[in-house]
Amino acid sequence: MSKKPIYVTQPYLPPLEEFIPYLQKIWDNKFLTNGGPMHEQLEAALSDYLGVEHVALFNNGTIALLTALQALRVTGEVITTPYSFVATAHSLLWNGIKPIFVDIDPHTLNLDPEKIEAAITPQTTAIMPVHCYGNPCDVDAIQKIADNYNLRVIYDAAHAFGVEDAGGSILRHGDLSVLSFHATKVFNTFEGGAIVCPDAKTKKRIDQLKNFGFVDEVTVVAPGINGKMSEVNAAFGLLQLQHIDHALERRREIDQFYRLQLHDVPGIRLVNSAGQTTANYSYFPILVDADYPLNRDALYQKLKDNNVFARRYFYPLISNFPMYRGMSSAQHNNLPIANLVAEQIICLPIYPALENEQLSWVADLLQEH
Ligand SMILES: *Cc1c(COP(=O)(O)O)cnc(C)c1O
Repeated sequence: MSKKPIYVTQPYLPPLEEFIPYLQKIWDNKFLTNGGPMHEQLEAALSDYLGVEHVALFNNGTIALLTALQALRVTGEVITTPYSFVATAHSLLWNGIKPIFVDIDPHTLNLDPEKIEAAITPQTTAIMPVHCYGNPCDVDAIQKIADNYNLRVIYDAAHAFGVEDAGGSILRHGDLSVLSFHATKVFNTFEGGAIVCPDAKTKKRIDQLKNFGFVDEVTVVAPGINGKMSEVNAAFGLLQLQHIDHALERRREIDQFYRLQLHDVPGIRLVNSAGQTTANYSYFPILVDADYPLNRDALYQKLKDNNVFARRYFYPLISNFPMYRGMSSAQHNNLPIANLVAEQIICLPIYPALENEQLSWVADLLQEH
């Protein structure tokens, strides 16, 4: 038995004493929320770190997704992937939009651009792809389709913090990109999120929408929501940013270790990166196929019995949850690859505090039969 439990992820927490001066500042100036100095500084620091024009912070990624759809006035039908965290499709339902599920590419596990056109109807107004596990979508193919049919593109980039392609941040693609800073993500503010937007005018509208629709003290222009990030969360983000490169470097080492140990294990397929020049190693997904002596759920249970709490992200598929499964695009025969992958996937533990000994233990469990 392993000595202590190993979870799929563990939040990166800098030393507590480093956080105290940030809290002292908040106590001193008594600005707790509503776009205070910490909030302002974090927006600027993130634009700089990520290499993007404008960042609008949110209290979580889901409210950011909801607001991104509102900001672009998306209605009708939106094409999206069933292979994601449930918030992707939920953000559509909350806006009264019908999700249309399209199958994924078997290699990248992202929305398959070749299958998008067949799903477009006169009601389609946008595409919402996900950079799953931080692996970039085929952004050029998606943009081409969007241009041809006059569709908006909103990326759920919850996994894609810091990911870059040859041209720079992956977050510059599409009309908007949405980040999550939830505790389980690579960069966290306990709870939090952001919308990355290309111009100041769009950011202004987003900032109004996340503050009830207020433009000034007496003017409300839209039925906005309360999506504001508090000063404590923003302060933690500023501190976290001081440590992020170090955390990403340790994640890279872990990724390399797993690849070396697992690349020739029969029945285990590694998901390769998809064209990024800078990855964030946010997840370590493996696919367990028929050549492996155990099926996926048996392997999942074996790991669990040995105190290794891997996770089946993303099982069940969004399209198989009760509020979606009646839709025609949610049917199994429309989504064969996503359904197969959901039966084979396991995400292995990856986080900076993992020790080499623990990694060996996980690899041994996967290699022995
Ligand atoms: C985490 C996540 C979200 C939701 O973000 P929250 O900050 O938890 O609301 C949305 N989409 C994907 C793909 C996610 O992984």
